[in-house]
Amino acid sequence: MSNERILPRDIFWLGNPYQTGPILWGDQEADVAIVGGGFTGLASAYFIKRRFPEKRIIVLEAEYIGFGSSGRNCGGVAGNMGHNYSNLRKKFGTEKMMQLQRLMIQCVDLVEELIREHKIECDYDRAGRLMVAETDAQAKRLEEEAKDCQQAGAPVEWFEGQHAREQFGCLDIKAAVRYPNEGVMDPVKFLREMKRVVESLGVEVYENSRCIQMIPGTSTSRKILIYTNGGRVIAEDAVLATNAFSDPLRFFRFKVLPLYVYVISTEPLSQAQVEAFQYPGGRGNVFGATNLYWARNLTADNRLIFNENEVYYYYNNDKDYSCRPSSFQRQYELMIRKFPFLKGIRMTHAWGGLIGITLDFLPFIGRTGMHGNIYYSVGYNGCGLAPSQVAGKIIAAMMADEKSDLTDNVLIGRKAFYVPSTPLMYLGLNAYKALFKLEDQRLGGQG
Ligand SMILES: Cc1cc2nc3c(=O)[nH]c(=O)nc-3n(C[C@H](O)[C@H](O)[C@H](O)COP(=O)(O)OP(=O)(O)OC[C@H]3O[C@@H](n4cnc5c(N)ncnc54)[C@H](O)[C@@H]3O)c2cc1C
Repeated sequence: MSNERILPRDIFWLGNPYQTGPILWGDQEADVAIVGGGFTGLASAYFIKRRFPEKRIIVLEAEYIGFGSSGRNCGGVAGNMGHNYSNLRKKFGTEKMMQLQRLMIQCVDLVEELIREHKIECDYDRAGRLMVAETDAQAKRLEEEAKDCQQAGAPVEWFEGQHAREQFGCLDIKAAVRYPNEGVMDPVKFLREMKRVVESLGVEVYENSRCIQMIPGTSTSRKILIYTNGGRVIAEDAVLATNAFSDPLRFFRFKVLPLYVYVISTEPLSQAQVEAFQYPGGRGNVFGATNLYWARNLTADNRLIFNENEVYYYYNNDKDYSCRPSSFQRQYELMIRKFPFLKGIRMTHAWGGLIGITLDFLPFIGRTGMHGNIYYSVGYNGCGLAPSQVAGKIIAAMMADEKSDLTDNVLIGRKAFYVPSTPLMYLGLNAYKALFKLEDQRLGGQG
């Protein structure tokens, strides 16, 4: 049975018509049940099915494909797992950082391989990403980042003075780092195409099918019981791909913090406005070099996607806070301050979404349960589009008991820092944000 559903109109990417798939009804048996229909869920379905074509794989999505942050992001295809190289080197040392770097390079390549192999139409453009320093203090910080990237073997280009200004002529920048191997895409087109791909391989994707309870295997049976609004699945293995949403096991509730981020997008820019950026990277992402950075890129029809990376942790975080007019207004004003040639442009869409933050800013990937048959990858720290594809590959490799860099790296089975209770977390997070803001002031602020 299929179910028509009107999707939110405030999210630019969800504008094209979409018919949701069937609801799961009755009792079903599956080899693998995947909970969550975002990038992680569909990537896991894809890579598991490629390794084990004989397995019956079921994806259970509570709402519709792309309801979570996979359908609400900015479309930046980057391989940095929410971390910068300086921090990674400080935390893990050079060797482990380089191993992670190899994985990160794979992230973007993997996205491109999927696009090529399955002729995925998602307005992908490997336009690179530019990080710009608007003050000398920011330039110093960026230079350190560029050196660490080079040391790790990551392809980056460093620009100073006049050379930097040629990279993004509309701002008086002091320095810039360019990551040439990154891109932009329409994330929802990509997701819906991935749904097509996995279904063509034989994966069953159910929407409007919320997992209400998951009961792991016991000493007498390894089978996992998953209860949904329409039925029940008895599965040999399960994958939790619920990221920032509290999962039905309550497993990540205090390990992955659900934080809101907000984005705005405009009507299509005129050719003169596009040229006014004086940016050879065209549609590509440009980021400021502060902690709570601003970022911009262009859609295929030249709408500006703009956001300020100011995250919000809400006290009652089970409620939906995706509409925050004061944030939309502030971002619009910041956008006009940065790019005065856009004065008067209409903001046509504005939305918010949940990102999953971990206390060490790296995702958790692993397996749990008495039989180690509940796999997970969560907590991408606001940078999961490309990394979630590698996560899907890692989960499939773990399921096959493979021993390789995919299954043996710092992301796998890491012990989680335990996030304290909501009131403490609320205070702690706001204190942390205040520190970030103070540092940003020292770096010369957002402008
Ligand atoms: C505003 C914003 C901008 C961003 N920009 C970028 C960017 O430019 N580049 C980038 O790489 N990353 C970006 N991100 C982060 C990126 O979108 C996420 O890291 C990524 O989408 C995570 O994918 P996921 O599949 O793990 O989680 P989600 O996409 O959140 O998917 C989880 C899914 O699980 C479903 N679910 C939850 N509970 C249940 C249940 N009980 N039963 C069944 N289903 C359930 C949800 O409905 C949801 O669809 C951004 C995020 C936001 C919010």
